Amino acid sequence: MQVIRIHETGSPGVLRCEEIDPPVIRPDQVLVRIKATAINHLDIWIRKGIPKVPLPMILGSDAAGTIAEVGSAVHGWNVGNDVVLQPAVSCGRCESCLKGRDNFCAHYEIRGEQVNGFNAEYVAVSPADMIPKPPSIAYEEAAAIPLAFMTAWEMLIRKAQLQPGQTVLIWGAGSGVGSSALQIAKLCGAYIIATAGSKTKLKQAKALGAHHVIHHYEHDVSAEVKKITNRRGVDVVVEHVGQATWNQSLKCLAKGGKLVTCGATTGYDVKIDLRFLFFKQHQILGSTMGSRGDLHQIIKLVEHGHFKGIVDRIFPFDQVANAHQYVEDKHHFGKVVLIPNSQFSS
Ligand SMILES: [Zn+2]
Repeated sequence: MQVIRIHETGSPGVLRCEEIDPPVIRPDQVLVRIKATAINHLDIWIRKGIPKVPLPMILGSDAAGTIAEVGSAVHGWNVGNDVVLQPAVSCGRCESCLKGRDNFCAHYEIRGEQVNGFNAEYVAVSPADMIPKPPSIAYEEAAAIPLAFMTAWEMLIRKAQLQPGQTVLIWGAGSGVGSSALQIAKLCGAYIIATAGSKTKLKQAKALGAHHVIHHYEHDVSAEVKKITNRRGVDVVVEHVGQATWNQSLKCLAKGGKLVTCGATTGYDVKIDLRFLFFKQHQILGSTMGSRGDLHQIIKLVEHGHFKGIVDRIFPFDQVANAHQYVEDKHHFGKVVLIPNSQFSS
């Protein structure tokens, strides 16, 4: 079967599209034929060697496909069922897992990072890793949803506890997390200010429900936010950029505002002035991934038309280097999806 694997870290040139034997399932597993698998920024980091992962590694945390084989001990699933796959695995037994907070599990592992991922024609998974894919959602769209939406859901719903009528600033609305956060904030009835780095992306952010958009390369974002909010600031900032935007994010917060962060793409070494933190009663919240149970809710909301997996471009597996470059060059709005070559034209 065809897989996308790295044997060393570095530029997109290290990505290898190669043939390996398909996995052999255990009696308690299911074999899924992948129809579409999406790229996350995480894949770019792993390819670059941040963090270091066991090599070789099959990349990819998001996928949708069809069940090709069912283990003898698995019940309730049949060959031909369409499924969306969970981007992470956890022990399933600890206190965190049993409370539905599996992203706090000591044995939490993300696909394509600690264990082989979904950039493959076939994967072996457990029944708990699958959610039925509603027929109304295409494989490509389904693959664009899990990691980005789970991350954004955890940030806005679980961590920031966004309320109707609150004002939210979303950095980088064109990213997977940004475009997902925008849709979640809209469903919550929030007033949304979104930033993006091109006029086209600003238009797309507006079409997705942003009330105000700011070109983050051409404008001082905190000054614009102050103008828009009549100097009050926002209740929640969705931060995933890091060093380059950190000070601006803090300046944008209203009294009692919450900054929730899930990433440090531009650097992790940031400053906090404690005087502002306590006097303005800000909250700074760290967030990683999300609960596997929440993905069930998210898929339902996609099925009911509240959320949309936004697919920017689709590449066949053997063009994965171009696909990674495209993401790194920030041309995309939403997700870039990969499809095994055997299914690309079918
Ligand atoms: Zn656990």
